[in-house]
Amino acid sequence: MIDPAATFQRKLFLDSGSEHDLERTARRSEEDEDGHAIGCIYCRSVFDLFLAPWCEHSLPHPSKVCPKCERCLCAHPMYGQLDLWKEAPAAFRRHGFLKLFVLYF
Ligand SMILES: [Zn+2]
Ligand SMILES: [Zn+2]
Repeated sequence: MIDPAATFQRKLFLDSGSEHDLERTARRSEEDEDGHAIGCIYCRSVFDLFLAPWCEHSLPHPSKVCPKCERCLCAHPMYGQLDLWKEAPAAFRRHGFLKLFVLYF
């Protein structure tokens, strides 16, 4: 049974939801394919994984260089553990990731 008053109230509620749009866009979406913010494990600064430059190491997989402390993940003890690597999602593959290190998620 449809109650017209309730429908109207619901519409009002939906309209007033636009106030929260700013808040929502300010928060970074993890599904945003244009960027993937991660925290550097060394200096804790947050940077965009896709925009960060690749390091010059090639084994087992190059890693990204933190723009702040300029360290890559290759020297990290966990980086050589293959069970910590996952198949890269399509969004990541478009940015050159064949595999994805868990700390990059
Ligand atoms: Zn760093
Ligand atoms: Zn490296």
